[in-house]
Amino acid sequence: MFKLTNKSVIVTGGGSGIGKAMAVLFAQQGAEVHIIELNDQAAADTVTEITTAGGKATGYACDVSNQQQVVDTFTKIGKIDILINNAGIAHIGRADNTSTEDFERVFNVNVKGAYNCLYAAIPALKNNGGGVILNTASIAASVGITDRFAYSMSKGAIHAMTLSVARDYLHDNIRCNCISPARVHTPFVDGFIAKNYAGREDEIFEKLSKSQPIGRMGKPEEVAALALYLCSDEAGFITGTDYPIDGGFITL
Ligand code: NAD
Repeated sequence: MFKLTNKSVIVTGGGSGIGKAMAVLFAQQGAEVHIIELNDQAAADTVTEITTAGGKATGYACDVSNQQQVVDTFTKIGKIDILINNAGIAHIGRADNTSTEDFERVFNVNVKGAYNCLYAAIPALKNNGGGVILNTASIAASVGITDRFAYSMSKGAIHAMTLSVARDYLHDNIRCNCISPARVHTPFVDGFIAKNYAGREDEIFEKLSKSQPIGRMGKPEEVAALALYLCSDEAGFITGTDYPIDGGFITL
């Protein structure tokens, strides 16, 4: 079950954290993985990890917020079966202390970046007779995490984008879903703690872990397993849906 043999998969932000776990798992299931990364060294390291284990992967230095770079990269890749819009950045701030520059930076990566990839991928998916799009949103979109104004808004846009795309391409055999993790232990979280709580890293890590009803952060591999299911043929009846993966954060 959940095999992706010979599927061509694009994972944006596949050099780190959740995207990396997806790239590694998808390659293990037989996919040819294309990693789109701002950080080309991180992409190269993930490619090495996958190919050393006998899988197929290629890395591409590309900023998803730059439409020309995205179009050129997707043209180079050619056949696409699955697109994972996962690259994202965080920002701390409320409406009255988020600068225009920071607001635009978050939207340029988290929202415009996903749009750029859809713009480039959908013609290729249609040419290919269909495929799957999976977007990484966040529970921030549903609960509006404190001090994450621009970030929460950007992830809300990903929810709406998922519905819009699922509806528009229903009859092109393209399924589109999103996943909404709560805190997952990745460099994203470590970087956030290091930047904002220097000297109190262990204490804050513990506090953030305990703030989740289940008492710990998620693991990137747990998110990748959900992504694999949603991108597999076994999930063929699922489209236009958001899947929280949150240790009970929203419901408990
Ligand atoms: P991460 O920082 O570990 O990895 C993100 C990757 O995206 C990095 O390798 C980075 O280089 C790449 N990236 C950033 N901007 C880019 C750009 N403009 N073009 C191409 N690549 C770019 O983060 P993560 O924790 O794995 O998060 C992945 C996704 O999951 C993000 O969309 C994030 O918002 C979402 N998310 C994370 C958490 C969490 O707690 N970790 C929770 C909810 C949602």
